[in-house]
Amino acid sequence: MNYQHVFVDGSKSSFSPGKVVCVGRNYAEHARELNNPVPDSPLLFIKPSTSLADMSQPIVLPPRGECHHELELALLIGRPLRQSSAKEALSAVSGYGLALDLTLRAMQAELKKKGHPWERAKAFDGACPLSAFVASGEVNDWRSLELKLWRNGQLQQHGHCADMLFAVDDLLAEISHSFTLLPGDVVLTGTPAGVGPLCSSDVLKAELLNLLAIETRVA
Ligand code: ZN
Repeated sequence: MNYQHVFVDGSKSSFSPGKVVCVGRNYAEHARELNNPVPDSPLLFIKPSTSLADMSQPIVLPPRGECHHELELALLIGRPLRQSSAKEALSAVSGYGLALDLTLRAMQAELKKKGHPWERAKAFDGACPLSAFVASGEVNDWRSLELKLWRNGQLQQHGHCADMLFAVDDLLAEISHSFTLLPGDVVLTGTPAGVGPLCSSDVLKAELLNLLAIETRVA
């Protein structure tokens, strides 16, 4: 794997890319669009480091049915976090970026129906394209962040991080009680509404407020 975390100024992170801890249904409107109940504690799952890819490179979809985009705020972890309090959790974030939580939707529905884990639908090779990261010092308040995704010029997703059901600091603390977070790990904070299928040759543009803009395409 030749993926490496980078910052928007072009510098490379010294951390080896690790696991990606993801939260499902962290925006009420997205839970509703897929007819899922709003959870009362975070729904967590993990993508392995082999799912990581550079979002600026063409996105390779697996040949296994409809693959959906889920644009999410990604947090790059910069120091170990274990059984943390919400109060100390935010200081472990070294960067804020964008991720696509690629999801084989039909396969996920099938797995859910059988009560099976979701990994085959969400943790496959290349299932987590990541942007460069904005250094955390440049983000005063994560609640002010907004994320937008255009597909072929059409705005598909526009989320306000302030609408998250589980706040970033609470989420990190909760995760750290199940999984120790290590430098180089990434946390995905859930997708706002507007998920939908990707097709070969789609042109994608994503923005994190005015901090980060990225253009890419589907291979
Ligand atoms: Zn997601």
